[in-house]
Amino acid sequence: MRSAIRIFILSLSLLVANQVQALNVVVSIPPLAAMVMPLLDEDDELHVLLSPGASPHGFQLKPSHMRQIQNADIVVSVGTGIDAWLLRALRNYDGSQVVMRQQPGLVLLPKRDGGIWQDLDHDHAHEHDHGHAEDEAKPLEDIRTDGHIWLSYQNARLLIQEFSQQLQALQPLRQGAIVAREQATLDSLNEAHQAWWLKMEPYQAQRFVVMHDAYQYFEQSFGLQALGTIHVNPEVPPSMRAVQDLRELIRGQKVKCIFKEPQFPESRLAPVLQGLEVSIGTLDPLGFDGKVQPYEAFYDRLVSDFTACFQ
Ligand SMILES: [Zn+2]
Repeated sequence: MRSAIRIFILSLSLLVANQVQALNVVVSIPPLAAMVMPLLDEDDELHVLLSPGASPHGFQLKPSHMRQIQNADIVVSVGTGIDAWLLRALRNYDGSQVVMRQQPGLVLLPKRDGGIWQDLDHDHAHEHDHGHAEDEAKPLEDIRTDGHIWLSYQNARLLIQEFSQQLQALQPLRQGAIVAREQATLDSLNEAHQAWWLKMEPYQAQRFVVMHDAYQYFEQSFGLQALGTIHVNPEVPPSMRAVQDLRELIRGQKVKCIFKEPQFPESRLAPVLQGLEVSIGTLDPLGFDGKVQPYEAFYDRLVSDFTACFQ
């Protein structure tokens, strides 16, 4: 009798196990993988489309990427100009989707114009070059929005919540576990955010310049403000005029730090820095070297890299 019950329980658990099918999750850029990873089961697969070391600006999908999208159960995208290269591929995709830009309550900031955001005495016109590749069909509001929305920790929370909802719909048998993981991830992120705030607060008045205008959401989260950017358009090297303006800014405003990025050639810093006394730091808005890490670890790195430049 007992063994009959045991066999019954065994076959029942096999049945349940069979019903929870491993999922194939595809994300456009690494920080999205960082957000959804803690909610996935170990059998689920997670693929990042953007190649390690590549910049999403000007990125193009290969046929192998198209196949990955067609085989996906969920596709997660930013939904701004940053991953507009995904739009065409998604036209023939009818699986689940999570688009960060579409989440209600999102923190959105307007794009900053030109390469210098601190008013200087001279007032010649700056190039108004909105370089991020945008889909022409997008509303004006989106073209004017700074697309690096994943660097807001509040936006990350919204994406994690929406991803959890979609995951529960696809895997109803795992619902309890998914909800528990979501809660643990959000709690831990909250705690981490407090720690980042304490670490960043002493740097609020520090003067710095960035490689490209990716960090507005990061800056705003901690009351910081970059004075300018080397690349006005992330796909084009800075003009002579822009370099001159930046040198004037660095000297005049006593800028302490310039942050380079792994996705841009370092050679573009040399003409800006020549003969100036300024520290060089590194900030990586994608935080990816081939291995997906949780969002907290990615953001933690951003915070430590930022503060390290001012030591
Ligand atoms: Zn960017």
